[in-house]
Parts: sequence; structure tokens; C-alpha cells
Amino acid sequence: MADAWVHAVIDLIAYGRPYFDLHKEKDKPHEFLLSNHRIVNHKWYQAYKRLWNFHDPFPSWLKESIRILGNEEGADKAEEKMAWVDHDYIDRTWDVLSDQDRKYCEGFFAWVLFSPDILKHWAGVDVFKGRIQRVIKSREILESSPGLKSEYKRLYNYVKAVVRNNKILQNMLEHYGQEIKSIKGGSEL
Ligand SMILES: [Zn+2]
Repeated sequence: MADAWVHAVIDLIAYGRPYFDLHKEKDKPHEFLLSNHRIVNHKWYQAYKRLWNFHDPFPSWLKESIRILGNEEGADKAEEKMAWVDHDYIDRTWDVLSDQDRKYCEGFFAWVLFSPDILKHWAGVDVFKGRIQRVIKSREILESSPGLKSEYKRLYNYVKAVVRNNKILQNMLEHYGQEIKSIKGGSEL
């Protein structure tokens, strides 16, 4: 399984919000079920090869049901549902990666998280101003997201602690050219 923080960084890139609590909640059964944790809270993971495959991970009927949910309960609910489902897709992807590939992925996502400029210009997420670039009715807008700043800070400090305790990730970040001193140091964001 990918760690909850990896899911959160992926969602930060995809939606502009990390949904860290959602991912932690999904993987909570991990504490008592260990590798079997995906029996609980992971329906889309279980439905692999039955309802979807890697060529078509999100079939049109699923997209349609999310669109309807958005119309009925609002865009936030629809996005939450997408975060819930994409988690399972990432977990399946994770299963087929080697240990080394997983570490490379973790290093990459930590690097993106620690690079606010890249988040801003590549992913359209301004974590300091709390703004997300979105396309609504084919027009690009900057949507204000008041909770983003504190959610980013929380995730940043969490991953910083993960990296501080993990030599392989530290080497990985050096490989990506990340200024490592600030990560090793005690100061938090
Ligand atoms: Zn999971």
C-alpha cells in the first residue's frame, strides 16, 4: 500500500487539496488487518479486473455517477468521491511496483511537496496564497481555498518528519536536487 501521505500529495497535485484525513481514514483498518486492510474501505481496489483494468481505470459509468453526485450534492462531494476511488487505483498500481520503484515514487512526491514553485506552476496549486487553478466552463480561474494553507503545512511537516527518519528518502531527494539541509534541520514550516 502506498502510505497515506503519498495519496495526499497525489491529490494535492490532482485536485489542489490533499484529503490527508480521508486517506488516513481509508487505511485505518491497516492497523489491525495489516496486508489484508484493503478488504475494508477499498471497494474499487476489490473490483479490479471485474469492473475496471489499467486500460480503463475509471469507466464512463463511474464518471457519470460522479457527475450526478456533483449535481445533486455539490462539487466538493464529487471531488471527495474521486479522491476515495483514485486511492484504490494508486494502491493497485503500487502492488505492481518493485520496492525500489516505490522508493523512487516516494522520493519524487516528497520532492514535489517540498517545491511550492513546482506545485504552483506545474500543478496550479498556490499553497502559500491558498489558491487553486481550475477550469470551469472552459475558463481558467483561480479559486480561493481557505483551508489549503494549513492543510499543506500539516502535510509538509508530516512528510518532513518521515524523510528525517529515512536515509533512503534523503538520498533520493539529494538525487532530485532538493536542498536537503532544510529538511534535516529542526525548523518546521
Ligand atoms: Zn489503501
